[in-house]
Amino acid sequence: MAMATSGTGARRAEQVLQRLRVQPPAIWYRGEQVQDVTTHPALQGGVHTLAHLYDLQWEKADTCLFDSPTSGNKVARSFMLPRTREELESISRAMKVWEDHTHGMMGRVPDYINRAMSGYAAGAAFLAEADPRFGENAVRIHEYLRENDLCLTHTLIPPQANRAASAAGQADPFLAARIKEETDAGIVIRGARMLATLPISDEIMVFPSTLLKNPDEDAPYAFGFTIPNNTPGLRFICRESVDYGRSHFDHPLGSRFEEMDAVVVFDDVFVPWERVMLHRDVKRCNEAYARTGAVHHMTHQVVIKNIAKSEFLLGLAYSLVNSIGAESFQHIQEKLAEIWVNLETMKAFLRAAEADAALDEWGVMRPAWNPMDAARNLFPRLYPRMVEIIQQIGASGLVAMPTDADINGPLAGDIRKYYQAARAEAHDRIPLFRLAWDASLSAFASRQVLYERFFFGDPVRMAGALVGSHGDEIRRYADTVMAFVREGRDEAFSSTST
Ligand SMILES: Cc1cc2nc3c(=O)[nH]c(=O)nc-3n(C[C@H](O)[C@H](O)[C@H](O)COP(=O)(O)OP(=O)(O)OC[C@H]3O[C@@H](n4cnc5c(N)ncnc54)[C@H](O)[C@@H]3O)c2cc1C
Repeated sequence: MAMATSGTGARRAEQVLQRLRVQPPAIWYRGEQVQDVTTHPALQGGVHTLAHLYDLQWEKADTCLFDSPTSGNKVARSFMLPRTREELESISRAMKVWEDHTHGMMGRVPDYINRAMSGYAAGAAFLAEADPRFGENAVRIHEYLRENDLCLTHTLIPPQANRAASAAGQADPFLAARIKEETDAGIVIRGARMLATLPISDEIMVFPSTLLKNPDEDAPYAFGFTIPNNTPGLRFICRESVDYGRSHFDHPLGSRFEEMDAVVVFDDVFVPWERVMLHRDVKRCNEAYARTGAVHHMTHQVVIKNIAKSEFLLGLAYSLVNSIGAESFQHIQEKLAEIWVNLETMKAFLRAAEADAALDEWGVMRPAWNPMDAARNLFPRLYPRMVEIIQQIGASGLVAMPTDADINGPLAGDIRKYYQAARAEAHDRIPLFRLAWDASLSAFASRQVLYERFFFGDPVRMAGALVGSHGDEIRRYADTVMAFVREGRDEAFSSTST
């Protein structure tokens, strides 16, 4: 379907739900195609939270929306190409609204890809160097997404079949999504991509990871485009839901924030040229995130998520401690302090990234990279530790935890008596500990930990990339150290020789 760049601007919840009903993504769950994600028990909790975010942006319109530069419509601020530090900070404040609402537990609120596509539109000239149409497409797609306020998922990496071989080196050349044929009208993709979080969205951004190595072999796997999630031949195969379909009382996080992850299958999916931004150019694919600024703008969003998540875990840890009267124990204080330091570290990274932001080669205000690169490499280690702290504080309280059925059942008297805490009646203590369980022990909690460990990439290879890209800076420190070493050495040798 052709893209109409005109639209009505920022959406509201009902429009989000209506579009998902009318243009349903091809989502498969436990062997069946989901007919309506807005009512399906495994998905509807996350879908309704997602939709609510769009009402929230209107409730906080001054913070979350701005006037479209093309239509004058009110549009989401996360589509802005900031030209000043003030504009960049205004995007931060807007993104914090959704992160506060989801407590950072929905990694893929639409801001994430909105920032990525804004980066690609900003760096359109880089894409246009390969073909002027690709640059024009990036600008037009960004405008189309912004004016229609669409929500995107994205998928980058090939299936985890044989990691010792590249996409081209797999037993089946069409295991990883690959260009099967090309016509005057567009390209046809066959194969799969490993993962897309938030398949309950309108469109998908299919971009390369930065792992393509061989310019010739990998060329058929090198492409970047967006297409609607209901494009013929596109299928999403979901993992099992971590929303057990229970009440907010029983399952406070899973019942609200299940964003779902899915393998993406391209069964000869046709992609018109007007949707293509990168094509068969391995080197350009590998450089695209950094050169356009997409990775900077995405990481900016991620750091704000990290702050909201740390704030939530700090508040949760303190509430547990307070309820059971454990605040005087030194190791408990040490643990609270640890989370607080993590939070302040993330806030400091954000502040440094914004304070040192500078106009990039495309005239867009780009958050400074070093603090953000540090944040994205550090948080995957901080988050599992903070979850461990919740377990260490909650202890058996995380399993001594009745459901709302027990509370309203024949044992209600027992529950009132035996589930009280030093500073909480049973009816306050139980939901608090259920929340702590859902943040640290449930399937929802484990998936959050896995998400934080991996969603931005394999931490081992990210660390390798970090050392590579900050090599000059690291070597400058090494030079200082070696000069210091030589000073001592020269002194020693000169005294030996006298
Ligand atoms: C919850 C969740 C949500 C995600 N959402 C998305 C999404 O929306 N879109 C998307 O595109 N991706 C998504 N990802 C995927 C994410 O990008 C990958 O998990 C990440 O890039 C690591 O790749 P992998 O999972 O295939 O691990 P693998 O690459 O298969 O690694 C498995 C293990 O082998 C090691 N290993 C593999 N290759 C090497 C190597 N060359 N050198 C050293 N060690 C190696 C790794 O260190 C790791 O320990 C998501 C992941 C998770 C867990």
